[in-house]
Amino acid sequence: MISVVVPCYNEEDVLHQLYMRLSKVCQTLNDSYEVILVDDGSRDNTWNIICDINSRDSHWKALRFARNFGHQTAVSAGMYFANGDCVIIIDADLQDPPEELYRFIDKWKEGYEVVYGIRTKRKENLVKRICYKLFYRILRRFADIDIPYDSGDFCLMDRKVVNILNSMPEHNRFVRGLRAWAGFRQIGLEYERKARAAGEPKYTFTKLLKLAFDGILSFSKLPLRFSIYLGLTILIIATFFMVFVIFQNIFEDWFSKMGLKSIPYAIIIIIASFLSGIQLIFLGIFGEYLGRIYDEVRNRPIWTIQDMIGFEQKSSKI
Ligand code: UDP
Ligand code: MG
Repeated sequence: MISVVVPCYNEEDVLHQLYMRLSKVCQTLNDSYEVILVDDGSRDNTWNIICDINSRDSHWKALRFARNFGHQTAVSAGMYFANGDCVIIIDADLQDPPEELYRFIDKWKEGYEVVYGIRTKRKENLVKRICYKLFYRILRRFADIDIPYDSGDFCLMDRKVVNILNSMPEHNRFVRGLRAWAGFRQIGLEYERKARAAGEPKYTFTKLLKLAFDGILSFSKLPLRFSIYLGLTILIIATFFMVFVIFQNIFEDWFSKMGLKSIPYAIIIIIASFLSGIQLIFLGIFGEYLGRIYDEVRNRPIWTIQDMIGFEQKSSKI
């Protein structure tokens, strides 16, 4: 059995197209399948359309979050409720073509536990493309594990990997990182990322920034170590300065003959505010790690579910 998980947030414009294209692919895959739509607290007509789809086709099931929890949480919840021998994650907006699933399944049958899509071309604006490129390069430099370039959440995971991800209690989830962390045989397949079929992107700038922070902070302690390196460098430079100033005071005459004047106040103020800026940045970085520890310690549920349709055992996992 194959499970397909689709996170949906205000996706009323694309759901019908998604249903047509994804159903066609799933039916020809020649296996039993389920499609789990996760309504991430949509405020438009998404849930009504989902109910309509479920009443027409029982392969299509759905969860409805009690509010918007974000894409990564929606994906995680879908994986948790999926029953398939493999789980496929795909966006609702048809940017990831459902027809690629044929290749994914072939690789899975060859024995790969994880098959993920690598985005070759992006039909998105230049700024977004540059930010993505930059982010994946920084992430790869920083992360303790090998997170492939330009790999999104569009992927297929074997049940073994899904079980591992489901057992991870993390609250700020970066699914593509957790997937890489799990290990097993993984392969990336290149595909062209299309433009959105309809509607506006649902990832706001703040949501993308949070995703970027989650990615780097969940898989690297390097930002913490940076403060040590930077602190040491500044300390060495300051020591040279100190020696310079001491000598200047002792050999005042010689220094003035050489034309070297004392440091103006303006420069001192600039250096002091520059350093306090750096300190505040690192305080913020520590705060980010601390906040994440706080999230884990409070251990609140990762999502809350308002409604489920199409599932047999409903209440046990809510
Ligand atoms: N999405 C979600 N919750 C959110 C934001 C987005 O479930 O808070 C879903 C959205 O419905 C879509 C997928 O995540 O299926 C990717 O979102 P989007 O297309 O806006 O992101 P982009 O493709 O621009 O990265
Ligand atoms: Mg999209």
